[in-house]
Amino acid sequence: MNNSTLNRRSFIKSVGVGGAALTVVGCSSNNDTADTDKPHYVMVFDQTKCVGCGRCKDACNKVNFLPEGMARLDLERQTDRVEGEVCPKCGKTECNCERKYVRVSCQQCQNAPCVMVCPTGAAHRDEETGIVTMNPDTCAGCKYCITACPYNVRQINPDTKVADNCDFCLHTNLAKGELPGCVQECKFGALKFGNANDKSSYVSKLLAAKNTERVKEHFGTDPSLYYIAITKEEI
Ligand code: SF4
Ligand code: SF4
Ligand code: SF4
Repeated sequence: MNNSTLNRRSFIKSVGVGGAALTVVGCSSNNDTADTDKPHYVMVFDQTKCVGCGRCKDACNKVNFLPEGMARLDLERQTDRVEGEVCPKCGKTECNCERKYVRVSCQQCQNAPCVMVCPTGAAHRDEETGIVTMNPDTCAGCKYCITACPYNVRQINPDTKVADNCDFCLHTNLAKGELPGCVQECKFGALKFGNANDKSSYVSKLLAAKNTERVKEHFGTDPSLYYIAITKEEI
């Protein structure tokens, strides 16, 4: 885990600190813990394979009919160093060395603050799949869930005025028996998806074989998005 600290720094900055979120969660009256007897769908983002082409983001926008200017996932271009630090590849403080990218999207928390604070139950965990998703018909647009999310990845859809998060394409591709749009479209093998509770699944084997990281685990959110981070030696 420690060998990718430099790369993590940038992503953690991008998803925000979430101090306000902790306060809101503390006031919550709802409980949200995923049922361990059910499937646990996870996604694995492999930073060593991602080239930053953006096809995943385009596919997501299209599959989920997102309006112009809205995105459920973003790719952060990482510099592998903070401003003024020497590039570990060329030794300069300013350079054009190849950059690495990181996925920023809903972490599909197993203990989801957005679900806990939602006063109407609009932000909820799908009973069958355990995926955190939305009921647009009951969303009041209060934005409590947006404040509560420690990852700063929820937003209001400007067209529908309803809160929104990446739900692994639950109501679109998954409903048709297909993989999430981003996974389907990635031609570089940087995204994998599956049921981690099925020990024979590819993702289970991948998680067992590789060193992975999850973001802000100390908040107790138990995220379902795993990162295979590039090591300093690979930069
Ligand atoms: S499609 Fe794959 S390689 Fe391209 S930006 Fe997305 S995750 Fe990275
Ligand atoms: S990352 Fe944010 S939006 Fe996604 S499940 Fe966790 S708290 Fe909810
Ligand atoms: S904006 Fe909608 S989903 Fe979010 S807390 Fe309010 S009612 Fe719930």
